[in-house]
Amino acid sequence: MAAFRVIIVGGSVAGLALANMLEQYGIDFVVLEKHKSIAPHLGAGFAMLPHGARILDQLGCYNALEKLSTPIDTVVGYDENAEKCTKISNIGVFLEQRLAIFPLQDFLGYKMGFLERQQVVQCLFDNLRDKSKIHISCCVSRIHLTDEQVMVETNSGIFEGDLVVGADGVHSYVRREMARLASADGDESFFQGQREFECCYSAMFGTSVAPEGLIENQAFKGFKSDRSFLCSPGKGRLIYWLAMFKNREKTSGDGIPRYTRDDCDRLAANFADDIIKPGVRLGDLYRDARKATLVPLEQGVLSTCFYKRIVLVGDSWHKINPITGQGGNTAISGAAYLTDGLMDLLEREKRPTRASIEKLFSDYQQNRGLISKTLSENAHIMQRIEALETPFLKFFQLNVMRFLPLKFFRKRLLTSFNSGLLLKRLPPPSRSGTVQVGPHTQKGDSSPLSFLVKLWILFLIPMTVVYYSLA
Ligand SMILES: Cc1cc2nc3c(=O)[nH]c(=O)nc-3n(C[C@H](O)[C@H](O)[C@H](O)COP(=O)(O)OP(=O)(O)OC[C@H]3O[C@@H](n4cnc5c(N)ncnc54)[C@H](O)[C@@H]3O)c2cc1C
Repeated sequence: MAAFRVIIVGGSVAGLALANMLEQYGIDFVVLEKHKSIAPHLGAGFAMLPHGARILDQLGCYNALEKLSTPIDTVVGYDENAEKCTKISNIGVFLEQRLAIFPLQDFLGYKMGFLERQQVVQCLFDNLRDKSKIHISCCVSRIHLTDEQVMVETNSGIFEGDLVVGADGVHSYVRREMARLASADGDESFFQGQREFECCYSAMFGTSVAPEGLIENQAFKGFKSDRSFLCSPGKGRLIYWLAMFKNREKTSGDGIPRYTRDDCDRLAANFADDIIKPGVRLGDLYRDARKATLVPLEQGVLSTCFYKRIVLVGDSWHKINPITGQGGNTAISGAAYLTDGLMDLLEREKRPTRASIEKLFSDYQQNRGLISKTLSENAHIMQRIEALETPFLKFFQLNVMRFLPLKFFRKRLLTSFNSGLLLKRLPPPSRSGTVQVGPHTQKGDSSPLSFLVKLWILFLIPMTVVYYSLA
């Protein structure tokens, strides 16, 4: 009997992270990637966060990635006039080691480090022992399901296996196939309550030669009306930059815009004079970019991530605004959760039944759906604040934020940077923290809405007092 086999569609962050995990657990797999090369240069930076770094360390990728990345110690924010308005010092220390400002001894063991997204994908590929399982120029066109197996049709043949994992990004073809199969089966439950991704912002991003005068290990942000910027130095005198623009209207599903090169050029020209910080102008970054792209920023978590023997990981299931650098890190954590669950199942059943597989997927959906939703909502709130969307958010970001100690955000930071887990069957990562690994959202974490309400109450009262005392 053939070994239990997982067919992974998509050879990027989620797909190759999963491939590494399956390989090291001794589970057979193939990766089908439609592009003719793995890890094409797209120009996007990638913030490696502690929860992603821990798993990459377990897989044996972290040391190589650490050498390629620039650790961040400080994040400075600039207002509409490019004047300094916020500074988060010691963020690197907070993440990496024990920090005296906290009453508890929190530390996560890893800093936040910036590198190219392409380098992460390349490193995951290089780390695989058996490259023959990776099929490039292999585009999936149809999925067939029986009760016992799956068959995936591609332009270079048919692949048979036990499961299909759709790691094929936000425009997932696998997701469309799931819907087609459910519809053909007349399975209405698949569609009930199913959400679509929404889109409120678009992002232009690129990698450029860094302007003179940047401070080592310091990332910076720019806050302007209906747009915000995030820039981080990289190795080799490079700067990774992201410019987020509020769309005229909120769109969803098929209504989400797609952009052309002309759209990108036009938007860059419109905002070329935006000064992010003294000496750094958007127009100059754009002109000097090795590559720059404009994309819509989908957000949200689809309510259903599986159908029978097909399941989604990464951007095909959840989309997070890149302002918090969570998308890829969360995809890696999700792949780890799924791999451990699958291994548990294979230890109980040599050839798991469809019912057992659906139970595994349902647990994955519940667990990772919750944390992904929190991360996606937090990123959206952060985006709204940094793009000064309302007078209150503008007042808060430009006048209040600077007075809030890092401690104020402890729970939120832990949610963001400690939302992952460890692979149960691999040796622990080389570095460890004092914080228990795992999502911190279940206990006592407030929703973004209640967070804003609390802030509103906290600042409404003093603002009212000031207003009436001046009136
Ligand atoms: C500007 C920007 C900055 C970001 N910064 C960060 C960051 O700092 N940190 C972070 O964690 N995340 C970041 N992200 C998010 C991160 O890049 C994504 O979350 C991550 O790439 C998702 O990986 P994925 O493997 O799920 O999907 P993708 O990276 O989209 O990969 C999907 C793969 O599937 C393949 N594919 C698609 N269709 C088919 C098919 N029919 N057959 C075969 N193959 C197919 C594609 O070619 C592709 O290789 C950022 C995103 C953007 C846009």
